[in-house]
Amino acid sequence: MAISSKIREYMENASWIRKMFEQGLELKAKYGADKVFDFSLGNPNLEPPDEVRKAILQVLSSERPGLHAYMPNAGLKDTREAVAKYLTRDHGVSLSWEQIIMTCGAGGGLNVALKSILDKDDEVLVLAPYFVEYFFYISNHNGNGKLVNTNEDFSLNTETISKALGERTKAIIINSPNNPSGRVYDAASMERLGKILAAHSKKTGKTVYLLSDEPYSKLVYDGVKVPSVFQAYPESLLITSHSKDLSLPGERIGFIAANPRMENLKETIDGLTFCNRILGFVNAPALMQRILPYLEGVSVNVAEYRRKRDLLCQGLLNAGYKFTKPEGAFYLFIKSPIPDDVLFVQTLLQENILGVPGTGFGAPGYFRLAYCVDDRVIENSLEGFRRAIRKYSA
Ligand code: PLP
Repeated sequence: MAISSKIREYMENASWIRKMFEQGLELKAKYGADKVFDFSLGNPNLEPPDEVRKAILQVLSSERPGLHAYMPNAGLKDTREAVAKYLTRDHGVSLSWEQIIMTCGAGGGLNVALKSILDKDDEVLVLAPYFVEYFFYISNHNGNGKLVNTNEDFSLNTETISKALGERTKAIIINSPNNPSGRVYDAASMERLGKILAAHSKKTGKTVYLLSDEPYSKLVYDGVKVPSVFQAYPESLLITSHSKDLSLPGERIGFIAANPRMENLKETIDGLTFCNRILGFVNAPALMQRILPYLEGVSVNVAEYRRKRDLLCQGLLNAGYKFTKPEGAFYLFIKSPIPDDVLFVQTLLQENILGVPGTGFGAPGYFRLAYCVDDRVIENSLEGFRRAIRKYSA
């Protein structure tokens, strides 16, 4: 045996997205890429805004020495200042640059946060449906993930969260706008969540951290706003990236912002800063950090994703599928026409359509489509979706 048995088990059982991706490659080789409708991956299809390229060129044309040098573990001061400034404006809480830690994407940020706060066998609550990597990240740092259900429409169920909190609970991860459901948790439920966590922390004398994973916070539709986690609960960390809002997933640029109202703020920031070094990826890439001060207020054209959402939703509604219309992100989480979501995804595969079973997100009975694809993929897939659902109608 070469690799660890734990990793082998994870690889065998866990990644539905990966499995679909591989099946997609086979189908594309067999039928041609234009005959395969790939909704499996959340890889943004919009190119980064022009401003990104201009900022990169501007930074690279600088004669300043040390452009690519090592830097303080938490990142470059100018960048952290720029991030603190726009968060202060958007969240109504005054943040200083010292409360920002630049990370290798949100994935890097989540690992840094979990590494900093978890002791062995501490519990982390994860809400279903969830981003597939959370349980691996928690296990990376010797914690135990505990699954908690949301409501039927995937909104926050603060009662189930309250019941799930225990002696060993150290954190809860929330993700809004949500991958895979597209749900945005509203301000009232966030406030209730804050109160429950505060009461529990007070009762046990142990802080429960709220980790808010928000890489889709700028991809919201129809006037929906993502409530500020900083307003909801003092012991909170906002973890995000520009993978989706600037279409830069390959560049690994993200950050953690610590709530300035946090009780052990200094120690938490020191812990995060240290962990940003010891996991091996050592802070966010310098060039990407240097472009951020030029990009305040810039993001991909969200109207494009909204249009794709509407195109797909309308086509699938007409075909008879049932779902809650997403408020944000670029995923549609659809009720499987039959209880066995894995079987239904296989049925879609016969139409050269690639989706991901809800089972892979802790929500069997559903399947996910990522609509960050060309319009052509959506339009040309609809006939296949119609045929697939007809197979199971009486
Ligand atoms: N969190 C969620 C909910 C995601 O969907 C993703 C990526 O798809 C990530 C975190 C990781 O993003 P990043 O590229 O910033 O590491």
